[in-house]
Amino acid sequence: MPETDGIKTAYHQCLEGGGEMGGLIRSIDWSQTPIGDPSTWPSALRTSVSLMLNSYFPMYIAWGDGYTQLYNDGYRPILGATKHPQAMGISTRETFAEIWHIIGSMFEGVMNGQAVGFPNFMLPLERNGYVEECFFDFCYSPIKLDDGTVGGVLVTVVETTGTVKALKDLKENKRELEISKAETESERDRLRSFFMQAPVGICILDGPDLVFELVNEPYQQLFPGRKLLGKPVLEAVPEVKGQPIWDILQNVYTTGEAFEGNGLLIPLARGENQPVEDRYFNFMYQARYNADGKVDGVLVFVFEVTEMVNTRNDLKREKDKLKLAIKAAQLGTFDMDLVKGTMEWDKRCRTLFGISHTDVVTYEKDFVTGLHPDDRDKVVEIINNVFVKAISNGDYDVEYRTVGAEDQKIRWVRAKGKAYFDDNNQPTRFVGAALDITEQKSDELRKNDFIGMVSHELKTPLTSLSAYVQMLHAKALKEQDAFVSGALEKVTTQVRRMGTMINGFLNVSRLESGKILLNKHDFMLNELVLDMTDEIRQTGPGHKLACIIEKPITVHADQDKIGSVIINLLSNAVKYSAKDKTITITCGVAGNMAQVSVHDEGIGIKPEDMDRLFDRYFRAESPQTKYISGFGIGLYLSAEIIQRHDGKIWAESETNKGSVFYFTLPLGN
Ligand code: ADP
Repeated sequence: MPETDGIKTAYHQCLEGGGEMGGLIRSIDWSQTPIGDPSTWPSALRTSVSLMLNSYFPMYIAWGDGYTQLYNDGYRPILGATKHPQAMGISTRETFAEIWHIIGSMFEGVMNGQAVGFPNFMLPLERNGYVEECFFDFCYSPIKLDDGTVGGVLVTVVETTGTVKALKDLKENKRELEISKAETESERDRLRSFFMQAPVGICILDGPDLVFELVNEPYQQLFPGRKLLGKPVLEAVPEVKGQPIWDILQNVYTTGEAFEGNGLLIPLARGENQPVEDRYFNFMYQARYNADGKVDGVLVFVFEVTEMVNTRNDLKREKDKLKLAIKAAQLGTFDMDLVKGTMEWDKRCRTLFGISHTDVVTYEKDFVTGLHPDDRDKVVEIINNVFVKAISNGDYDVEYRTVGAEDQKIRWVRAKGKAYFDDNNQPTRFVGAALDITEQKSDELRKNDFIGMVSHELKTPLTSLSAYVQMLHAKALKEQDAFVSGALEKVTTQVRRMGTMINGFLNVSRLESGKILLNKHDFMLNELVLDMTDEIRQTGPGHKLACIIEKPITVHADQDKIGSVIINLLSNAVKYSAKDKTITITCGVAGNMAQVSVHDEGIGIKPEDMDRLFDRYFRAESPQTKYISGFGIGLYLSAEIIQRHDGKIWAESETNKGSVFYFTLPLGN
């Protein structure tokens, strides 16, 4: 080392200080580097090094063409874990090889006298074992020699990676914040549109005054035309004041406890200035909380059920009335679930079958067994038909006797009911009511016995009266006493009419007591029709009687009884049509049955009377029938007779146009 004071002083002075890097610089044998021993350094370099070592700002010097590096403590962190300490005294080209393609040209520019600097300049440094994006505010300045040429590059630099990253994070956070804000807003919009479109009434009541903050359409519809939005509840719906619901609502706000109401009565008016009505609601009050966890509003979900509650109440009233009526009428009720195979009988129904226990009853064990043996097959067949929709349409109306299971008492029952079917026409339920008609039946039987007895008693004198009249008539004819014979003919007609009437009653009585017997044999139905028409003709009714025989037909039946049916239908046709009208009787075949029809052009029958036409003692009431004699037993008897022959009887009619009565009988051999 040269001993000249001046140089020594300069040497020591320029490397003095500089903290850790100062020490490192002083420990290096610079004579082994391209820039040589400090004693040989030009003054510009010495001054710059001294300045650098005494600066807190990160600085480094790249000296000479080889860009030999010297740096201070402030610069040290920029070199990371892998570039220091070897960077000291070697070329920048080597230390920053990974970015030399970026900074090399800048260095060259500086060496040519052009300073350069950038804020937040990104350089991909590999200083910690991996490449990382580093940012710098830097300035590359030329260090000029005394002769004005450039000796090296002074780098003043501040690393801004942290700031840039923080800024980036901040931007990202801001973006995320914006996204989440947008999401929150869209969520809020979605919720709002859900609220607005929900099929239940929804409103949000805000603050302690419970101001309507949001009201959806169904909620507004609860109060058509009333202004709710923006108004406190008590102002918008003042009628709630003093009502328990108002306390409940306030309680939800103060305690935060939700409240659910089911079918609650809340008297409210609908529109402005309309009367307060009893209205029922299903609703839910739910507290709304603010960010501090404090209740700041109430959410209301509500559904008006007034109509439902009213219907339910009406239904209950009707049910009670029905129960009362069933009780008053002493009706028993039955209900069969044909899918589950269960049967329910109420107390009264059990009594009708002489059962006092309350155990489960069954169709076979209790119902079928409880039927009177004489009625059992008939009733079971009827029920089987009830279960076939096509046959009965599910309608059930039957009278039968029961034999009390416990008391062996015989009771008469009238049962009416209906079977219900599924989509495949399978019966699913059979419900109905049963009435004890024992009393009524015994009355009828007594009446029937009386009619039978009276008719029977009347028949004998009438037969002898008829015989005497015939004898007198024959005598009058013989004596050619025209007046007496004429009078006796009228008597004969009246006696025959009376006989028909008495026979009718006698037949009813026989039918009721089951004493009517069929005496069947083969005969020609067409001939019977002709005979009966003649018989009517002889009574000289005045009508035109047309008889159409389509072909000869044999039937196996009780000739007398079928004759009485034809006479009855013809007599009715005569009775219920004017004298100048035509009556047409037709005898033919329809399908595999013989069919007879009697057509008249008379007064006809009202549609509402058609169903009861064949009922016992039924007579249609009208001004035209008022003075026509009859007891309403002819069609009843005819129907019984035809049904006992496995035939059918029915009528078609139009008021003031006429009627057609039909009956069919199975064809004989
Ligand atoms: P009646 O003795 O009263 O004629 P029926 O049993 O023969 O009894 O007939 C029952 C009722 O049916 C009659 O009272 C009448 O109202 C009505 N009716 C029967 N046949 C006819 C008919 N051809 N035209 C109009 N009404 C009829």
